[in-house]
Amino acid sequence: MAIDAPSESFFSPWPDRLRHSAIILLTAGLALAVLVVFGELGLLRAAAVFGCIAAAALVPWRLHNVIVSRDDIRGVNPVESAAVSAIVSGMPDPAVLLDRAGRVIHLNAAAAQLAPALRRNELAQFALRSPEIITALREAIATAETRRATYLDHVPVDRWMELIITPVPVPTLFGGTDKCMLMTFHDQTPLRRVEEMRADFVANASHELRTPLAALSGFIDTLQGPAKDDAKARERFLGIMHAQATRMARLIDDLLSLSRVELSAHVRPDTLVDIVPIIRQVVDGLEPLARERQVAIDTDLPDPPVLIAGDREELLRLFENLVENALKYGASGGKVIVSLSQALSGEGSPEVRVMVRDFGPGIAPEHLPRLTERFYRVDVGDSRAQGGTGLGLSLVKHIVNRHRGRLLIESVPKKGATFTACFPQARAPSGT
Ligand code: ADP
Repeated sequence: MAIDAPSESFFSPWPDRLRHSAIILLTAGLALAVLVVFGELGLLRAAAVFGCIAAAALVPWRLHNVIVSRDDIRGVNPVESAAVSAIVSGMPDPAVLLDRAGRVIHLNAAAAQLAPALRRNELAQFALRSPEIITALREAIATAETRRATYLDHVPVDRWMELIITPVPVPTLFGGTDKCMLMTFHDQTPLRRVEEMRADFVANASHELRTPLAALSGFIDTLQGPAKDDAKARERFLGIMHAQATRMARLIDDLLSLSRVELSAHVRPDTLVDIVPIIRQVVDGLEPLARERQVAIDTDLPDPPVLIAGDREELLRLFENLVENALKYGASGGKVIVSLSQALSGEGSPEVRVMVRDFGPGIAPEHLPRLTERFYRVDVGDSRAQGGTGLGLSLVKHIVNRHRGRLLIESVPKKGATFTACFPQARAPSGT
């Protein structure tokens, strides 16, 4: 492949402006020499004229080097400038290179998208108007030390970015370095969200524990005081205290189960278990509750074993939560169906689907996406009256996820709700 090589000459390695001055001086010198040779001009005069021309030709070039202006950056070695620009463009996070005054020299596409007000050759201070950022920029310029600030973006969704301003020396054409600043943005939104979730979780858990605790200490006071000798009231209060203590125990139990499942979320269970007896055990265990709520549980389960890679205890918890919810919230339907089917997933791999269906009031569509959030309830009073903790479906989702499965929730208000847990089907070990 042919590459156009620049034509080489005596002046080629010289900087542009100096080259022009040298050509002018050479031409003037030749012309004056001719005049002196032909006796048209005295040697002294010719020397004086040459001096004036030399001063006129060289002073602007000198001035250009002395005056510090924003054009300095245009004096950056073209090869290095291209490399700097390529590095800034190639950075995965939004990145902007600023000159020592805070003017934008290069910015990558991510930065242009994040802050469209940032434009080349314009001051970043005007584009990013936050006082915190302006102070950080000013300090980075003054101290030549790294400074950090927070950049908040609200469109299209709230995002928190950490902005780091790092002073970087960029080599210039004339052998020195120009103090530039590299401004990079780092998305802190996921960390921030986790932090918010953690704070919400602690607040919710304390609130959930404090409510039954307050009821318990209230009843203890009453039993020690006004109801001391009232045998009937004592009996009633002890019953309520028992229910509140059970609720606290259940909440702690659910919290511990949730944290255990979360801790092992990355480890997929590898023991092969037959899921059918697990479901039967859950249904049998909840028969008394079904009788109490006057609900019939119909099962449609196969006889042969259906194997999945699973954790038996976690699967028991999962189905217990789904069937118990159906009995508690869907009791008015009078019937709950628990069935197992085998089908192909969207990706074409065989999966086992366990469906728990009730015919109660169902769930309004706006609640469906949030049902598996911790402490989320459609009706807090109803959930508490049923002894609920608001953690059941969150636990179900975590267990399904750990088993690399899916949880589907469908509901038609007034017609009931269907919860389907899907698991990848395991192949029976050879020889069985
Ligand atoms: P809870 O301990 O309150 O039962 P869950 O996480 O198990 O907590 O359920 C969250 C909420 O989802 C419940 O409070 C209830 O409002 C709603 N819900 C769960 N299952 C059903 C169902 N089968 N029918 C109607 N609503 C349900």
